[in-house]
Amino acid sequence: MSNIRVRFAPSPTGFFHIGSARTALFNWLYARHTGGTFVLRIEDTDKERNSDEALKVLLDGMKWMGLDWDEGPDVGGNYGPYFQSQRQTIYEQYLKKLQDAGRTYEKEGAIWFRLEGERYTAYDEFHKAEIEKVKTAPIVIEDAVRGRVERAEEKDFVLVRKDGNPVFHLVNVVDDITMGITHVIRGEDHLSNTSKHVELFKAFEVEAPVFAHIPLILKEEGSGKMSKRDKGALIEEYESRGFLAAAVRNYITLLGWNPKDQREKLDIEEIIDLFDFPGINKGNARFDEKKLAALNAEYLRELNIASFTFLARPFLHTAGVVSEEADEDYLQSVLKLCQPKARSLESLPELCRYFFTDEYPMDTKTAEKIIKKSDPKTLLAEVLPVLEGVEPFQHEEIKNSLETLAQTQGHKVFVYFPALRYAVSGQGGGPDLLPMLEVMGRKRVTKRIKEFLT
Ligand code: GLU
Repeated sequence: MSNIRVRFAPSPTGFFHIGSARTALFNWLYARHTGGTFVLRIEDTDKERNSDEALKVLLDGMKWMGLDWDEGPDVGGNYGPYFQSQRQTIYEQYLKKLQDAGRTYEKEGAIWFRLEGERYTAYDEFHKAEIEKVKTAPIVIEDAVRGRVERAEEKDFVLVRKDGNPVFHLVNVVDDITMGITHVIRGEDHLSNTSKHVELFKAFEVEAPVFAHIPLILKEEGSGKMSKRDKGALIEEYESRGFLAAAVRNYITLLGWNPKDQREKLDIEEIIDLFDFPGINKGNARFDEKKLAALNAEYLRELNIASFTFLARPFLHTAGVVSEEADEDYLQSVLKLCQPKARSLESLPELCRYFFTDEYPMDTKTAEKIIKKSDPKTLLAEVLPVLEGVEPFQHEEIKNSLETLAQTQGHKVFVYFPALRYAVSGQGGGPDLLPMLEVMGRKRVTKRIKEFLT
C-alpha cells in the first residue's frame, strides 16, 4: 500500500460518458499502479438531475468496466460520507474557517470568496460594465501532464449561492482536503477551475494535491469535444451492443495514453504495470470507432468457444435466428466456424443465419457472378448424388469424393465450390466450405441443393 489517494468524482447525469469513463479509468489505473487508494465520490449537489437511476447507470458502468473502488458507495470507508448531498455540515465548518479568517463577504445574498491582492476597477467585456478586479500573485501549477501552468485569478468568486447551496469550487476542494486526496486526475476542461481551487487550498492553509489534467477526447470528425449525442459516446451502449468490457477498457486506455511502443492491444495487468503520468499525452485524443471495433473483434476471436457461445446466444435469439432452447452442441460447432469472421456479436445473426433457418436471403450479385462463369445447375446435379452417398458426412470424406467426381468430369474440384456455397447459404463468402457442409449436415445440405435445382 502507498499513501496515494485518488478519486473519481462524477455528477450522475443518467449517462456514463466515454470522457467520464476515461477519467475513472485513469484514476483507477494510477491507484492500481502505485498501490494507492481509489475513492469514488458522488458529486450529487444538483438535486434536479440526481436520481437513483442516474447513479445506477454510473455504478453499473464502472462495474462493467471492472473499475472497482476502494472507498465510496456500497463499500464505505473512513472518509465518508461519499455523497456530497450528505456532507453539508462539513462544508459549513470549512466555510466558517474562511469566514473567521476574513476571506469571505456577502453581496446580493451570496457569499463570496475574497482574493488577496491589489484591487482596481476595469471595463469588463462580458458584463459590459466597470467591475472590480484584483491583482493576485499568479498561481503556479506543476501539472503532472502539462508541465508548468501559470494562471492568475482576477475576480472574487461565489462560494455559497443565494439559495444557500455551496458551489462546486468549494465542495470539490473541501472534499479533496477532508478525503486526503493526493492526486487530482481530471479532464483538461477543468484547468480553468484549478487556479480557483489552488486559491482555496491556500486560504485553508492546506497543501494542494498534485494535478494531472488529461487531454480532451475529440469527436471522430471535426474539432469539437465528444458530447453525449455523438455516436459511441455512451458506455452503457457498448454493453448493450455486446462489446467486450476488456476491449472497451483497452481502447479507452489509448485515448490519451500509450505504452511508448506501437502496441495497442495490451492486457490490463500490463497496462497497470506501465501506466504513469509520463505516458499521458499532452495533445488531444480523437475517438476512432474503427479502431475500437477492430480491438473488440480481436478480443472476441480470443474467447474460448464456450464463452463465445454464451455471449452470442442472446444476440442470435433476439434476432430470431435461434430459439431459446437451441442445441448447445450445434450452436457451438456453427459458432466455431463463424467466430474467426465475426466483427462483433451484433454482426453474428447476419453472418450465420443460414445455419439455423431456411429463411435466409439469396445474394443476387453473387448469383450473377456464378452464372457468368458456369452453369450452376449442371454442376450441382453432378454434386448431389455424391453428397447423398458420401460416408461419413465429414469434410475430409466430402473433399475426397468431390475430387474423384471432378476427375471423372475432367475439371478441378474448386469449380463446384461457388455454386455449392451459394445453394446452401445464399452467400458468396463465409467460413471454409467443407467444414461448413459437415456442420450443416447431410439433410440440410442435400435439401437445399434439391430446392436450388427445382
Ligand atoms: N463533478 C466534477 C465533474 O464531473 C468533478 C471534477 C473533478 O474531478 O474535480 O466534472
